[in-house]
Amino acid sequence: MRVAFSSLGLGFVLLAGPAWAQAANIEAMKADAFAVVDRNADRMGRLSDAIYSYAEIGFQEVKTIALVTKTLRDAGFTVTTGVAGMPTAYMATYGTGGPVIGLMSDFDGVPATSQMPTTLEHREQVPGAPGHGEGHNTHQPTLMGAALAAKAVKDKYKIAGTIVVYGGPAEELLASRGYMVKAGLFKNVDAMLDLHVGTEFGTSYGLDNFANISVEWSFKGEQAHGARPWQGRSALDGVELMNVGVNQMREHGYDPADARIHYVISNGGKQPNVVPAEASVWYYFRAKSPAIVEHLLAWSRGIAEGAAMATKTRVSERIFSGSWPFNGNKALAELVSGNISKVGMPIWTEADVSFAKSYQKAMGAPIVGLPTEVEKLGNDRQGASTSDAGDISWNLPYVRMYIPAKPAGALAGHHWSSAIGPATPVAHKGIAAGSKALAASVIDLMTDAKALAAIRADWTAEMARWPKWRSLIPDSSTPPIHLNGEEMATYRDALKRFEYDPNSKQTYLEFMGVAYPPKEPSTEIGRLSNLLAPDMGNSSIEWDWTQQ
Ligand SMILES: [Zn+2]
Ligand SMILES: [Zn+2]
Repeated sequence: MRVAFSSLGLGFVLLAGPAWAQAANIEAMKADAFAVVDRNADRMGRLSDAIYSYAEIGFQEVKTIALVTKTLRDAGFTVTTGVAGMPTAYMATYGTGGPVIGLMSDFDGVPATSQMPTTLEHREQVPGAPGHGEGHNTHQPTLMGAALAAKAVKDKYKIAGTIVVYGGPAEELLASRGYMVKAGLFKNVDAMLDLHVGTEFGTSYGLDNFANISVEWSFKGEQAHGARPWQGRSALDGVELMNVGVNQMREHGYDPADARIHYVISNGGKQPNVVPAEASVWYYFRAKSPAIVEHLLAWSRGIAEGAAMATKTRVSERIFSGSWPFNGNKALAELVSGNISKVGMPIWTEADVSFAKSYQKAMGAPIVGLPTEVEKLGNDRQGASTSDAGDISWNLPYVRMYIPAKPAGALAGHHWSSAIGPATPVAHKGIAAGSKALAASVIDLMTDAKALAAIRADWTAEMARWPKWRSLIPDSSTPPIHLNGEEMATYRDALKRFEYDPNSKQTYLEFMGVAYPPKEPSTEIGRLSNLLAPDMGNSSIEWDWTQQ
């Protein structure tokens, strides 16, 4: 779908008086915005906890979206759901004309990370179920906190322009933002502010992560009785041979510092005595550049064909999605970083620090508590993580801010231990701090035409240094909204009794019956696991070999 804005760069608020008076006015606007964030902070924390309790994974974020879009509608935003062909994608607008400032985030959980919040050992709410083993539950409440505050200021001071809030589902599937870009949803947006949960408060610029592509190969053979297998052709054989081929490619296909390849067998047949007529394998390729991703894809495509030939099966390919790495804009990052410094770190309570230290002790991680200073703005170092938001940064000025909404020290990412922190008072304070920095940035961008023009110029100059962006998603691809359907259906009913009502008299932790801060652990459950994993930074070639 297409949404029309008239972003003419006109209609900026006209502030009377000399420059110092204007600056004073901006300060007053930001103070007003911070007061609105503080008033809404309890509510946003509760919404974050509710989203955590839904434990919804990519493209299944139905309850999450209902809660978020209702909140935005009630606040006066015009909400469109189902954008770009994805039922759980939405955009919400307030205002008319330019400048058009975007706020964006994802909100999906991670499979098999069900966990009791604050509990310092592996205790699943529902065995095997999804959970928020990263903390994306904090994202939309941060955006909403910012959007509501910026809207209140926009109304009070009669500031021209449009605020657009975007919900991008299925980040863990790398799946939504590429399609939103292709659908033209960001066409008239002047600047985009994205955010991600973290252990620190800051932002950065430059190339941050890896390009990626998500692709499934499906093999078709002939079904037969397992006792007379010569009558059949196993599609699973095709899958297995393909995986062997890809694993052989690893040594010669790329420098290990430049790429990552991982896969799951998404269909491996039904039971051993039925020769599988259908089997599929689903791959993520991540690499420093889109060119390396395409090289790996082409090589793997050949391997798939070879595997099909060897097993007398047929193979077909479906590209689910893909994205370039994200390239944060420097001028915009400087503006956001200024506001992060202005907001400063949350004021942690003794209970917060005690929780963080107990958590770190339990994980066998360095006991550092919680950060007390915001991060300095720096040029990014390209790491192997990926996000589907990358494509946005090649289409308009974009930055991603990270909010201090969980303590450092998890045993691993996408892991139950990463789900202990993001539904606690630490998370709530991180959300409020993030909302303030975003709201202040929206105010700057809406009232300072010069700053916005400088950001656009900086972005245009930066883009000229790079190859011209093109989507890695073929035009024939459609959003893979079938993904996770069965997985979510398996656990939805069992998860219901853990669902938190944000209007409850109890806090989420009271509702769950867990103490805050938790008792200090007597054993260091994660110690062994942390010792076994050397700190590799971003690349295996950067290990300190003298320490091995
Ligand atoms: Zn994430
Ligand atoms: Zn993730």
